Order: sequence, then C-alpha cells, then structure tokens
Amino acid sequence: MTHVRVNVQEIRQRLQRERDETLTNIARLREGMTYDLETSPEEGDPDVWEREKIASLIRSLENKLSEIDRALRMTERGDYGLCERCGEPIDPARLKVMPTATLCLKCKQELERQAAAARTPSWE
Ligand SMILES: [Zn+2]
Repeated sequence: MTHVRVNVQEIRQRLQRERDETLTNIARLREGMTYDLETSPEEGDPDVWEREKIASLIRSLENKLSEIDRALRMTERGDYGLCERCGEPIDPARLKVMPTATLCLKCKQELERQAAAARTPSWE
C-alpha cells in the first residue's frame, strides 16, 4: 500500500476554485435561459432544443457541484482520499487528476461493471 500523502490544503484550494467556476457557469447559463422562458414554445421550435441542451448542461454542472461539495466535506472531516466503499486510500495520482474522486479505482471499476451488467443482458 502506498503511503504517499495527498496535499489536502492544495486539493481544497483546487476544489474551491473549481466550485466558484462551476457556480459562475451555472449562473451564466441560467441567465441565458430566463429571457424567453415566458413564451410557450411550439413543438419543433428549435429554441426548445437549445433550452433542453442548456438545461442538461446545468444539470451536469450541478452534479459536478455536489461532487465538489462532497469532496470538500471529506477534507473537513479528515477522511479525504479514502475510498467511500472499502476505506482504502485512493491512489494520490488519481486524486491529482480527479480531485472529486471518492472511490478507489478498484471500487469504481467494480461499480461500473455492475452498472453495465444491469444495463446489458448477461452473456453467461
Ligand atoms: Zn475502494
């Protein structure tokens, strides 16, 4: 097991910066959406498409925001860098690339396999 410690202080700064950026992006997208929300669009209106796209963008940014918040809470509690599922330390190299990671690579891959197995019919 690796004993490399992640620099939590540095990670917190990164997370906070990313949080600010994400909030700004959400606010900007929301602003762009509001001005023509009053008009009830006809079906097939290209604007509906555009708004759907922006809405899903906002949703994914909000997801990202809650991931950032979760990681920030973990840095406060002092269990940042530990896998939420098995409790083993997450590879610091992985945290460097993805500071919001709350699962180790092994658990993530396992969960992804399970999710994929649930989606597709089993071959066995
Ligand atoms: Zn794990």
